[in-house]
Amino acid sequence: MKIVIVGGGIGGLATTIALGKVGIDAQVYECASEMREVGAGIGLASNALRVLDMLGLAIRSRSLDGAQGSLMNPKGEVLVTIRTDEFTNQVGAVSVMHRAELLEELARQIAPGRLHLGRTCTGFEQDQDGIVARFHNGETARGAALLGADGLRSVVRTQLFGNRPVRYSGYTAWRAVVEFDGGLNHGIVETWGRGCRFGILPMSGGRVYWFATNNAAEGGRDPEGRSKDVLLRLFRGWHEPIEALIAATNENAILRNDIYDMDPLPRWGQGRVVLLGDAAHPMTPNLGQGACQAIEDSVVLAACLKKHANVESALLDYQSRRIPRTRKFVMQSRRLGDVAQCENPILCWLRNSAMRATPKRMAARQMQSLLDVDILTASEQAMFQQPDREMSSYGEG
Ligand SMILES: Cc1cc2nc3c(=O)[nH]c(=O)nc-3n(C[C@H](O)[C@H](O)[C@H](O)COP(=O)(O)OP(=O)(O)OC[C@H]3O[C@@H](n4cnc5c(N)ncnc54)[C@H](O)[C@@H]3O)c2cc1C
Repeated sequence: MKIVIVGGGIGGLATTIALGKVGIDAQVYECASEMREVGAGIGLASNALRVLDMLGLAIRSRSLDGAQGSLMNPKGEVLVTIRTDEFTNQVGAVSVMHRAELLEELARQIAPGRLHLGRTCTGFEQDQDGIVARFHNGETARGAALLGADGLRSVVRTQLFGNRPVRYSGYTAWRAVVEFDGGLNHGIVETWGRGCRFGILPMSGGRVYWFATNNAAEGGRDPEGRSKDVLLRLFRGWHEPIEALIAATNENAILRNDIYDMDPLPRWGQGRVVLLGDAAHPMTPNLGQGACQAIEDSVVLAACLKKHANVESALLDYQSRRIPRTRKFVMQSRRLGDVAQCENPILCWLRNSAMRATPKRMAARQMQSLLDVDILTASEQAMFQQPDREMSSYGEG
């Protein structure tokens, strides 16, 4: 029997590919009627790049070359800076790309017959023989296991554990990709003000991915067609090229999302059903690890399903390996956001002084200790190095 995956985002697609690599048939069901990602840019750190290498995706070639990373204050004074060679040695490469390009790259690896668009999952049933996923149009899909990769507001999670509230972080974020080739002297830059931040990530092809955050009430919206005005007001007088970047951005390219996470769940599944990606561990984007962790989930889940003939044991093994690791990212990302979004002038001054005084190697090493972890054993890694296999149903070996 096949594996049924609900949600064709980064996590669901990566898992379909990972299962294919170990020879397990998976079918993915996505509610969108076409694969069109509206997101802006995405940063993929070394832990995700290692997995994508294993899955045979040529993402690493887009890694930033020669950039350095800096944390600044709005006047442009450097609080911490780290050269690329130091950064790469300690933390590894980072790729910044458009989300649409990443999704396209992932979707290209999946045979068309395995990706079913326009299917909104409304619920599921399971018994000792398998699962049945139900869709809004009356269709159903049977399988040996159901993987809920349906994001922050997961229907699969709600059916498993009831309506657990997501937590609003207290800040909202804007982001966009813009063509821009002027004055990017500092490489990757994040600038911390009082209750707001601006981030600049150079991309290939003369493009820049930028993001901005601000403390705000949940559910706020910019006046129609006025996001640029809102942002130019918020970041007036901040160091170059922040205002120039906002001004050069097409209004329609700007996305605004409130930022959420969720207290870590003690379990991600029940029987033959399990969660992955944002459905399992929604986190704030402060460490840039939400998608990276979904990508890590994909190979661990595939390795567990390959190793265990019993599906329930496989899903328990997967959870026991992934829950402690992702919990760290959820909590550290939350704490970093609280510090970065601080508004109190005295606390901001203390924060910036502490950042200046922190040895940069220490900051990089902390990140390294999070990223540089073997999530698979050597024999599991070898499972992904086999030439492309004939696809078989789960449990057929
Ligand atoms: C502002 C911001 C910046 C970020 N930056 C980064 C970054 O730089 N690096 C990083 O690693 N992460 C980043 N993230 C986090 C990252 O976007 C998410 O962690 C990642 O998209 C999670 O992937 P996913 O596949 O689990 O979920 P999603 O991307 O949410 O995908 C879920 C999919 O399921 C589909 N779906 C939902 N419900 C159903 C249903 N009922 N039936 C069928 N399909 C359904 C959806 O249409 C969607 O395609 C950022 C997040 C934000 C908000």
